[in-house]
Amino acid sequence: MTASMESLFERAVNDLSRLTKITDEDRNLLEQVDQAANELVVSEFEKYIERKFNEKVPEVLKKYGLMGVPILKKYGGKGAKPLVHALSIERFGQVGLGVVTFIDVHQSLGSLTIQQWGNEEQKRRYLTKAASGETILAYALTEPEAGSDPASMKTSYRKEGNSYYITGSKYLISNGSVADSIVVFAYPEGQRKGMSAFIVDKKAAGFSVDMRLEEKMGLFTSDTSMLSFDNLQVSKDDVLGEEGKGLNVAYSALLNGRIGIASGCLGVMEDCLNQVKERTSTRVQHGKPIGKHQLVQRHIARIASNLESSRWLVYQTALKKEQYDGNMSELNLRGEVDRISAIAKYVASRAAFECADSAVQLFGGFGYSILSPVAKHLIDTRVARIYEGTDEIMELKVASTVLGREFEAYS
Ligand SMILES: Cc1cc2nc3c(=O)[nH]c(=O)nc-3n(C[C@H](O)[C@H](O)[C@H](O)COP(=O)(O)OP(=O)(O)OC[C@H]3O[C@@H](n4cnc5c(N)ncnc54)[C@H](O)[C@@H]3O)c2cc1C
Repeated sequence: MTASMESLFERAVNDLSRLTKITDEDRNLLEQVDQAANELVVSEFEKYIERKFNEKVPEVLKKYGLMGVPILKKYGGKGAKPLVHALSIERFGQVGLGVVTFIDVHQSLGSLTIQQWGNEEQKRRYLTKAASGETILAYALTEPEAGSDPASMKTSYRKEGNSYYITGSKYLISNGSVADSIVVFAYPEGQRKGMSAFIVDKKAAGFSVDMRLEEKMGLFTSDTSMLSFDNLQVSKDDVLGEEGKGLNVAYSALLNGRIGIASGCLGVMEDCLNQVKERTSTRVQHGKPIGKHQLVQRHIARIASNLESSRWLVYQTALKKEQYDGNMSELNLRGEVDRISAIAKYVASRAAFECADSAVQLFGGFGYSILSPVAKHLIDTRVARIYEGTDEIMELKVASTVLGREFEAYS
């Protein structure tokens, strides 16, 4: 076990193993994750300063065989269940949310969506390559005029025989310019309902990356791009799930994605705690380490409390997801997982942002420099309160489960 695993994270894995089954295989997998995460620290920092996509992330994941952590073994993945998948993303969260975004999009929004909705041929074709790292996946729902309300999207498809021709634009797509295959959503031409999901190949004629969106306030090491499709031809074999039921595909992907982002936020909080522990015990002001000042300790207590309270919520959510995976026809369980994954993402992303803010505060003037180890957490975690469903959309979702469907704020 490396030094960084002998940490709160390792303690949590040990605590968890008293509550649920963490097998030797799971532990070995987490060992690999730990080594891969350690190997990414330097490149992630360098790329952050350069404000460039960290291409070492897929490279290192591939080297350790970790591109397909949650993909079933029969398709070449590790077959990790939701809890171990969450723990793996949590560990990468210590390196940064840029790494988490790459992984969450490739694994949760891309691979798990194909695994849940794809037919056998699609799973063999796409999952085996995604698991080996031969291909990278992305998920394209958002458009310039359709974010929180994906139903208002404009991208459409025309059907001719066994072919479909997709036209439209997708905005703010993580992994957009590095992905090989992308899960894309579109309406039948001239209609505002019956959305379908497709798996689109970036080599298809009519596909283009309009631009890399590099003017972001943070998350520099994650690729965010705008894509466009001009009569992009796909075949009927590329329809993902039942034609006309694409919104179900889109929402189920976000459910998995939210657990991933919440897990990554745990890692961010753990790194904030480790960083401030080191800094406040070595930085001396007023004749003593700043950690001996009570107001400094308050920040530390808040970071530790945020981490601990979010941690058990996220693990509980992952365990509920495991239960649901074993019984997907159980609609009440699906509703419960949907609700609790929204709460987990909402709570953990806000907690991580607050922790990062405290960490920057405790680093003082140096904390305000992006050369400090904590500034990136502050500017990166802000996006976790926006993507995969904003704070407000999560609040509406949770409130309507308390008040009842007749109180849903929008339909
Ligand atoms: C770095 C980054 C990466 C991303 N990656 C992806 C990706 O890989 N794939 C993808 O498809 N998308 C991606 N997104 C898009 C992201 O999911 C959307 O930005 C998000 O869903 C919000 O949509 P919007 O930006 O259009 O904001 P809007 O929907 O315009 O919302 C603006 C504000 O209005 C609020 N609001 C909207 N409707 C309501 C309502 N009914 N009630 C109360 N408040 C409301 C919102 O909460 C928000 O505060 C990414 C975004 C970013 C920034």
